[in-house]
Amino acid sequence: MTINHGSLSYLDPARPEPWASFIEQIDRVAPHLGHLSRWIETLKHPKRILVVDVPIVRDDGTIAHYEGYRVQHNLSRGPGKGGVRFHPAVALNEVMALAGWMTIKNAALGLPYGGAKGGIRIDPRTCSQAELERITRRYTSEIGIVIGPDKDIPAPDVGTNEQTMAWMMDTYSMNVGHTASGVVTGKPIALGGSLGRQEGTGRGVCIAAREAGIRMGVPISGARIVVQGFGNVGGVAARIFRESGAKIIALQDAEATVANPAGIDIPAALAHVAAHGSLSGFFGAEPVSEDDFWQIDCEYFIPAALEGQVTPERARRMRTKIIVEGANGPTTPAADDILHERNILVIPDVLANAGGVTVSYFEWVQDFSSFFWSEEEINARLESIMIKAFDAIWQTAQERRLSIRTAAFIIACQRVLAAREQRGLYP
Ligand code: GLU
Repeated sequence: MTINHGSLSYLDPARPEPWASFIEQIDRVAPHLGHLSRWIETLKHPKRILVVDVPIVRDDGTIAHYEGYRVQHNLSRGPGKGGVRFHPAVALNEVMALAGWMTIKNAALGLPYGGAKGGIRIDPRTCSQAELERITRRYTSEIGIVIGPDKDIPAPDVGTNEQTMAWMMDTYSMNVGHTASGVVTGKPIALGGSLGRQEGTGRGVCIAAREAGIRMGVPISGARIVVQGFGNVGGVAARIFRESGAKIIALQDAEATVANPAGIDIPAALAHVAAHGSLSGFFGAEPVSEDDFWQIDCEYFIPAALEGQVTPERARRMRTKIIVEGANGPTTPAADDILHERNILVIPDVLANAGGVTVSYFEWVQDFSSFFWSEEEINARLESIMIKAFDAIWQTAQERRLSIRTAAFIIACQRVLAAREQRGLYP
């Protein structure tokens, strides 16, 4: 089998994933775009890629260099928008794919943004707070030439949090000479952050699951749910699912995989992780093997960790009715086909995890107007944007007899490529 990673000479052909998955998803949608398919190559060519060296003095006095990226995949519909990831596996092909998915996600939800993403190849767990601050500040300064409140607005992703955003906001502000709160979202509330932002992604996952459940006759209340990833997405989603009457019967984080058929006490699991850093050693559930985890009988499976987790091999064995993608890119295109054949419904990342960037949009708007909304208002607006997008995507999927992912990509690509066409090519 040949793997198509596009024709980009700067990509390492030995490591095509996950950009190759993104390209395949774009290829699958192209035949459904009518005359706009003429512009499809736009989506296979990121607009702008910045690779930066991030040198710091470590606490022991040695000097370390890290590789950092900011990719602006598409800016046709507005400024770039997307998170910054600190993880040892960050690579250019990954950041490109993540930026591409942001273009699709923002357009699918109707947010006035293009798509961007950034990252540093580093294991933040091996760094002190002081080292993380130096790394974040130097990285921000290096990408300062391409970011800004009306150019490209970073946010948290895997391995970063509101403290990272506070340092990014401060560094950018110091460099431009005034406080620019709108340069990043996901900030602490005291610095112009938004109520509901930290929970936004997990809350959105639960809204997407509930909407799918209503249409499929699989109510959340009483459902058995398996969650992979127990951080800002999986942890919040598990808690809200539990509050809605579901039973979380298995959890996996980077260090442990545990199950309890009677339902895991989520507040206890969250307290354990807060105290010990991972699920390892949590007494409220039994350890299970990786193999068993992927074949637990359940109604909902929520991959909320990293990309490429639902492989064809796992897709053949999963025993769930509905997959709701909390992570970005967790399902490979080949696995998607298998799940489709097996009648397992997939609510794709670009819809299911869009609650985070939707509340980021609210944060950015609030920063611009310096007028802050109540949490009730934020959650109500989040519900309304997500339900509207869900309805439109679901309807397209039904009418054209396509997967929800392809339907989401159709709506998003139509919006991006129509903007591209109307703006025209410069010069
Ligand atoms: N990192 C999140 C995502 O993948 C949020 C991005 C944002 O808020 O800009 O959607």
